[in-house]
Amino acid sequence: MGSGLSVDESVRVVIIGGGFAGKAAACELKSKGIPFVLVDMKDAFHHNVAALRASVETGFARKTFISFEESFHDSFKQGKVVGINLETQHVILENNEELPYSHLIIATGSDGPFPGKFNKLTSKEEAIQVYEDLVNEVKKAKHVVVVGGGSAGVEMAAELKTDYPEKEVTLIHSKVALADVDLEPKVRQAIKEILLKKGVKLVLGQRVSNLDELTLNVSQENVALHLDKDSEVINANLIIACIGLKINSSCYTSAFGDKLASDGTLPVNGFLQVDGHDNIYAVGDCANLAGPKLAYLAGLHAKVSVTNIINSLMGKPLKPFKSGSLSMLLSMGRNDGVGQINGCYVGSFIVTKAKSKDIFVGQSWKEMGQKMPK
Ligand SMILES: Cc1cc2nc3c(=O)[nH]c(=O)nc-3n(C[C@H](O)[C@H](O)[C@H](O)COP(=O)(O)OP(=O)(O)OC[C@H]3O[C@@H](n4cnc5c(N)ncnc54)[C@H](O)[C@@H]3O)c2cc1C
Repeated sequence: MGSGLSVDESVRVVIIGGGFAGKAAACELKSKGIPFVLVDMKDAFHHNVAALRASVETGFARKTFISFEESFHDSFKQGKVVGINLETQHVILENNEELPYSHLIIATGSDGPFPGKFNKLTSKEEAIQVYEDLVNEVKKAKHVVVVGGGSAGVEMAAELKTDYPEKEVTLIHSKVALADVDLEPKVRQAIKEILLKKGVKLVLGQRVSNLDELTLNVSQENVALHLDKDSEVINANLIIACIGLKINSSCYTSAFGDKLASDGTLPVNGFLQVDGHDNIYAVGDCANLAGPKLAYLAGLHAKVSVTNIINSLMGKPLKPFKSGSLSMLLSMGRNDGVGQINGCYVGSFIVTKAKSKDIFVGQSWKEMGQKMPK
């Protein structure tokens, strides 16, 4: 066994979801030589943190999908989990296959509109093509409207205006302050200034009232967007939505129904064990933990859950999860950015060193034992 850890034959960890949490748990288990199965709908890890760059730059999407099979071989299974049998300790797939587990890590994350998220039962090549199609739609459009000015929306608007300064880019946000509420006011103000400097038009404190009727991500002639407070109609060619993340709870709702929080997250104790279940952990966006939902936190949760599985097998005390102060970097196109590390403001220099997420993407390739494509 890899690191010399000797575990009973009955030990088999099943990880549901191969996002930032699930892939970090799989890498940890693999390095410790503990038998596991990672199940995901896609056949590749999606580095969605860089999905917005992949929406404007031809060829970038290929760097954001990393094959599970090449990293985890037989320990990966593609499929959609539709249920968990807590009594028999099995995970149930859509094709009725049942996977036994001794320990379960639930890492189903969250879903939201494309291009920020791409959670579908699909292949890496199909997913890459969908991003390349969007790049072509962006190229055709003269005026792009981004709906939603949270952290994803401001990055999307900045990516568009950086690569296509000649295009009109409008960002419509229902609130007045941009980006994540957990960011320092100074960071949120800097984000606004960067967008204005780049020439993004901001429409703040307004909702698009006819969003449900609009076709997203396809370039068209004169699409009319109506606002809820102003009578002004905005005419654009391409609408990209960056709103409304929701927790992927469908596969565990019937197992834990009465325990779920109102947003669908799973309540956990300080060791990240699902309340009342010593051998089941919830990590990443689907865990009911205070603070923002972030990829780097998902990775930290995963490491704690694997440590606790090992400690429980070895009869050692469990390790509590401690989040520390918030770190969040926003890349505002390839030449600018802002954020905070451990609660402190950081400007463009540090963020642009991350070259619009290139460094973060590269780290994931390395962590999964693969070389990033050029
Ligand atoms: C555009 C954008 C930019 C972001 N930028 C940053 C950033 O710069 N830094 C940062 O720290 N965070 C960032 N975030 C947040 C970050 O993406 C999330 O916090 C992170 O993805 C959470 O990881 P996760 O593993 O919990 O879930 P996810 O990444 O959502 O992964 C869940 C996985 O589970 C799979 N799955 C779900 N249900 C099932 C099922 N029933 N059966 C099988 N598989 C299933 C999905 O296919 C998916 O692969 C960003 C988010 C967005 C949308």
